[in-house]
Amino acid sequence: MGKEGALKWGAFLNLISELSSRFVGSSCDDTDRVVNAALTDIGVWFNADRAYVFRFFDSYRGARNSHEWCGPSIEPQIDYLQHLNTEVLSCWMTPFQAGETVHIPDVTQLPPGDGLALLESQDIKSVLMIPMMTDAGLIGMFGVDHVSAKRHWSDEEIAAMQLIAGNISSLFQRHDAETKAQELLYKDTLTGLPNRRSMREQIRRVIEQLQREGGHHALVLMDLDQFTEMNERLGFVSGDWVLQQCGQRLTKHRLNGDIVARMGSDEFALLMTNLAKDPEQALNEVRRRCDALHRDVAMPFSLPVGHEEVTVSLGVALIDRAITDAETPVKHAELALNKAKGTAGHAIQFFDERLQLFSGERSQLLHELRQAIQHEELQLYFQPILSGREDVLGVEALARWPHPERGLVMPADFIGLAESSGYIVSLGRLVLTQACRQLQAWSEDSALKGLSMSVNVSISQFRDPSFAYFVESLLDQYPVATQLLRLEVTESLLALNLSDVITTMRRLSKRGVRFSLDDFGTGYSSLTYLRTLPLSQLKIDRSFIKDISARNKDMTIASAIAALGKSLKLEVVAEGVETLEQLDALRQLKNVWFQGFYYAKPLPAADLATFVKENSSRNSVA
Ligand code: C2E
Ligand code: MG
Ligand code: MG
Repeated sequence: MGKEGALKWGAFLNLISELSSRFVGSSCDDTDRVVNAALTDIGVWFNADRAYVFRFFDSYRGARNSHEWCGPSIEPQIDYLQHLNTEVLSCWMTPFQAGETVHIPDVTQLPPGDGLALLESQDIKSVLMIPMMTDAGLIGMFGVDHVSAKRHWSDEEIAAMQLIAGNISSLFQRHDAETKAQELLYKDTLTGLPNRRSMREQIRRVIEQLQREGGHHALVLMDLDQFTEMNERLGFVSGDWVLQQCGQRLTKHRLNGDIVARMGSDEFALLMTNLAKDPEQALNEVRRRCDALHRDVAMPFSLPVGHEEVTVSLGVALIDRAITDAETPVKHAELALNKAKGTAGHAIQFFDERLQLFSGERSQLLHELRQAIQHEELQLYFQPILSGREDVLGVEALARWPHPERGLVMPADFIGLAESSGYIVSLGRLVLTQACRQLQAWSEDSALKGLSMSVNVSISQFRDPSFAYFVESLLDQYPVATQLLRLEVTESLLALNLSDVITTMRRLSKRGVRFSLDDFGTGYSSLTYLRTLPLSQLKIDRSFIKDISARNKDMTIASAIAALGKSLKLEVVAEGVETLEQLDALRQLKNVWFQGFYYAKPLPAADLATFVKENSSRNSVA
C-alpha cells in the first residue's frame, strides 16, 4: 500500500470506528436515523450507487427493504421492495443462512438464473451482500450496489463491512426486543387487542380532545356472565376461544376512532368516540349501539362440545367535558357494570350518581360483614323439615346477621356479597361450626336429638381445597354430628371439575355426611349427574311449589321429581310450602317431605325447640 493508500485506509478505519461508536451509543428510538446515516456515509465513501438493508420475515419467505441510500442519479427502490418474495434471492439464501458474505465483483460473470436476472434488471454491475446475524440466526442483509462501474472489494474492506453489518444487527435486535416489550405492555396477548393500560391512555387522549372541542364519548365495559363457571366446565382452551370470539364480535361494533380493549379476565371495553354534541342525542346513540352489541355478542358459540350460550352485561359511562381524568369514566362504568351483573346479568346499565352511593354503601357493608364473621356475630335460624306424617325429621340451618343498626339482615343481602368478596369461605366455616355445636347441644335433649341438620354450602366453599379436611376435623370435634349433618349443594357445583367434586363428596360420605341437592330443577338438572353424585336427597325448588295445584304443569314436574327420587332411592323435600292447597296437592305424591312457612318460618334455636316439642305432642295425641 502506497502512502496515499495508507492515508486513505487510515481514514476509512476512522470512519468505521466512528460508525461503530454511533451504533453502540444510539438509543432504539434513533434506529432509523443511525442506520440511514451509516448507509449514506458508506455509500458516499465507496462511491456506490445504492446501500441498503433488507429484513427477512415469515420464516425467510419474504424480505422487506427497510433502509436505503441512493446515489445522485439512482431511482429509489424502497417503495417497490416491501414484500419481496425471497425466491428471487434463492441462490443466495443458503450462504446467507450460513453467515457467508456474497461478493460479486462482476455481475456478467454470473451463470444465468434468478440472481443474474434480478441484478441485471437494476443495471447492477457489482454487488456486496452481507448477512446480518444475531444470536437467533439470520435477520436480514446489508448490501452495497455499484451501477455506474464495476467494483472489487478487498478482504479488509469486506471485513470492515461485516463489522458494520454486525453493528446494525445488534441495533435491530435491541430495537426489536424493545418494540416487543412495548407491545406486550400495551397489548393483550390472548386476543391481540389493546389492554387496560392502553385503554387508559386512549381515554386520557380523548378527554384532552373533549376539553378542547367539547362533545361526548362513552365507555362501555362488557363482562361475560358466568364465564368462570363456563371456563371450568369446558376447559381453558374453549374458554380462551370464547374470549377471542367475544373480542372479535365486539370489534365489529367499533366505528371510526373507537377503541376496543380487553381489560382483563372476561372484561372488555369499547370506547365510543365522537358522539353527538347534544347530550340527549349522544345518549340515544349509545343506547341504540349498546342494544345491538348486547344482542350480537350473546349469539350462541359453536364449540366442539356443542352450542354454548353466552350472555354479557354492559356498564356504560358517558364522558363529557365535566370529566377531566381517565380514572373517573372507568370507575363509573365499573359501578354500572357491577349493578348490571348484580341484578341477574344479561343487562345494560348506565352510570348514574346513585350508583356511587350504592358503592360506598357496599364497601361499608362488606367491612361490617367481615367484622361480624370475625366476631362470630352471625346467628343460625332453623326451619323444620317434616315427613308426610308431619314428624319433624330435621332442620335447615339458615344464616341471619343481627345488625345493631340495620336489624336482622337476611341472606339475600349478604350471601351474594360474601361470595363475590371471598368471605364466604370463612362465613361457611362459621356456619358449619355453629351447626355442629347446635347438634351437640340438642344431643342432650331427648326431643331434639337425632334431628338432621342441613347446611347450605356454596360453590366457592367447595372450591376451597381444605374444605373436606375442615369438615372432617369438625366431625372429630363434634362426633354427634356424624350421620346428622347434611350438606346442601346446588347444581352450580357441577360447573366445577366433576371428578374433584365426586372425590370430595365421597370422602365426606364415608365419614357419614350426607348430601342434598338444593333448588332442584332450576339449574342443569342433568339426570346423569344425579346418578353419578353420592346424593341422598333432592329439594324441589320453591318456584315449582308456588302455584302447584292438583292438575297443573308444576304438579307434573313435582310428581316426576318424586318418581325420580324414588327410583334413585333419594329422599325428596318440597321447599316453600306456604298453604294448605299446596300441601294437599303435594300429599298426593308418596314419600315427599315438606319444608315451608305453612309449618314454620326459620326460627331461633329456642323457638325451634318449642316447635318440635309441641308438634310431637300434637302428633302423639293424633
Ligand atoms: P335455600 O337454601 O333454598 O333456603 C330456603 C329459603 O327459602 C330460605 O330463605 C327460607 O327462609 C325460604 N323459605 C322457606 N320456606 C318458605 C316459604 O314457605 N315461602 C317462602 N317464600 N320462602 C320460604 P333464606 O333464609 O332467606 O335463605 C335464602 C338463601 O340463602 C338460601 O336458600 C341459601 O341458598 C342461602 N343461604 C342461607 N344461609 C346460608 C348459609 O349459611 N350459607 C350459604 N352458603 N348460603 C346460605
Ligand atoms: Mg338450602
Ligand atoms: Mg332451596
